[in-house]
Amino acid sequence: MMKNVIFIAPPSAGKGTQSALLVDLGYEHISTGDMLREEISKQTEIGKKVESIMQSGKLVSDDIVYELLKNKLSTLNKSFILDGFPRTLNQANMLDKLFQELKIDNYEVIYLDITLEDALERALGRLTCECGASYSKYNEEFKPKVDGVCDKCGKKLISRNDDNEESFRVRYQTFVDNASPIKEFYESKNKLHNIDTALGKDKVAEEIKEILK
Ligand code: AMP
Repeated sequence: MMKNVIFIAPPSAGKGTQSALLVDLGYEHISTGDMLREEISKQTEIGKKVESIMQSGKLVSDDIVYELLKNKLSTLNKSFILDGFPRTLNQANMLDKLFQELKIDNYEVIYLDITLEDALERALGRLTCECGASYSKYNEEFKPKVDGVCDKCGKKLISRNDDNEESFRVRYQTFVDNASPIKEFYESKNKLHNIDTALGKDKVAEEIKEILK
């Protein structure tokens, strides 16, 4: 079985793009944000509890996210990408115990490194499509073939208006600050791999494959 991945990446580092490539290789993409959004859309007990917390942009309690994740991992029988967990050092410790319980030890932690400047350029130029695809107005590598039109489904692309500069800077800095103890945690276990996203998406993908072999 291919090694499991814990992805840690600042906003706009390309985690979505790299995750999609791994999904094509047979990985299951586990995003705690997506799982929580699904609970909300189904209006489950959990969904009702977390709706306002998520809207405010705060973190949901560790126990709620942990329960969802535990259920998911306990029944999974393929390699996975973990996206959005751990968000705190406490969650890293919880995950470590869960992995021991479930006898999961074939995993690597990948940090996609991106400077604030590069992340800003990507974020402000981001175009998305209803189908989930995303593109960039500025970066040649990520431009759609036809301006403003999705390569995959042909629909009109939308510019995300929440990606304004100031809120992006705050999001980026908060992420980097929170990630630092988590990186140290995995570094001390010899699990952390830092990849410089300035290499471009193809080279990043190659490095990821090399790490997961
Ligand atoms: P994301 O899609 O990863 O950006 O997550 C969206 C929202 O879901 C976050 O702002 C949190 O409110 C919540 N969330 C996702 N993952 C976690 C987590 N590991 N711990 C706590 N809250 C989370």
